[in-house]
Amino acid sequence: MDTILVTNAGSSSVKFQVFALEPNGALKREVRGQVDGIGSRPRLRATGANRAVLVDRTYENDKLRDVAAALATAGAWLREELRIDPIAIGHRVVHGGPDYSRPVRVTASVLHRLERYIPLAPLHQPYNLAPMRSILASMPSLPQVACFDTAFHRGHSALADHYALPVSLYEEGVRRYGFHGLSYEYIASALPQVAPEIAAKRVIVAHLGSGASMCALEHGRSVESTLGFTALDGLPMGTRPGQLDPGVVLYLISEKGMSPAQLQDFLYRECGLKGLSGISNDMRELQENSDPRAAFAVDYFVYRVGLNAGMLAAALQGVDAFVFTAGIGENSPKIRAAIASRLSWLGVSLDAAANADNRTKISRSDSRVPVYVVPTDEELMIARHTLSLLQEGSTAQSSTARTP
Ligand code: AMP
Repeated sequence: MDTILVTNAGSSSVKFQVFALEPNGALKREVRGQVDGIGSRPRLRATGANRAVLVDRTYENDKLRDVAAALATAGAWLREELRIDPIAIGHRVVHGGPDYSRPVRVTASVLHRLERYIPLAPLHQPYNLAPMRSILASMPSLPQVACFDTAFHRGHSALADHYALPVSLYEEGVRRYGFHGLSYEYIASALPQVAPEIAAKRVIVAHLGSGASMCALEHGRSVESTLGFTALDGLPMGTRPGQLDPGVVLYLISEKGMSPAQLQDFLYRECGLKGLSGISNDMRELQENSDPRAAFAVDYFVYRVGLNAGMLAAALQGVDAFVFTAGIGENSPKIRAAIASRLSWLGVSLDAAANADNRTKISRSDSRVPVYVVPTDEELMIARHTLSLLQEGSTAQSSTARTP
């Protein structure tokens, strides 16, 4: 059976999933896996469709030095031991810059363009691109598709896309891109089935995971995001501060003597829930900890979600529904309840039992704004994009072949 490999490569790990293309055209998840500990103690783990462990293997560090080598090892394992030889690979790429409003087939010139956005996502983009480059070199005929976290937001109005900076900076790419687009696109695609009554309306989606943002959807399209030029803006996250007065950055440079590299490390790895609590970047750990600093970090997170919901409600000129997704949004009734109570002024009223049960609709029947929990699936979104680009490619080829 034809399969599609989906990858999500980071600095020290690469996650992958395999989807089988069923005869009816549906995509069925067959394998979930990851190689983590790249650069320290590489370990390949994967489970099958029924969550049974398929492999759990560690490697010498010098055998798996980088992300590209890690993905090559996972690919060899899939081919040799599971007889899975994907017909295409879909890659998650964090930044598509101003150029890409949809996924694109990977070529040398596409890679060259995407390298320009490394400074905009320094902790993600280089690792996203590395496996694409090495696969293009070793298996040039294997179709690869780059799917961007920014693409879904490219339809934003000029008002939403600008900072109040000289226009020359906008022209060179300093724009409010927005991220988590594959997650929001998946949610927008799922709403017509799970909540058809609100799918075409004004919906705020809160993607609350270790990275966190919110998106304003209207008719299933993104009109505003809490994230901007990089993935540092908006909500506080596991290790990132969220919205910050740029004056703080100036202070860190002038008074603390931080270099660009130190600042980058500080803002991406030492702030957010971790910095504020001094305990952990992990929401579950914070909720289980009795230290008041943990409770303060949780309260801060909830407060900022509420503030940002107000901003998105203003962008939409009203709210018809609210959707929670990602690790915290899908799994924490407590945080959902705390956020909902901050949104009561907007007309949100939760059904405590439905919320505790993680049901799809968790608001009371008389809540003016209905609230839903919709699990996200960025990997399935990437697999769908990869398949549709392949199919477009084969249609284009067959129509070219027919042209005299
Ligand atoms: P993600 O990045 O989407 O995988 O989400 C990771 C975040 O979700 C981490 O902060 C986890 O602590 C948090 N999370 C997962 N399950 C729960 C839970 N049951 N309660 C609170 N937070 C959770």
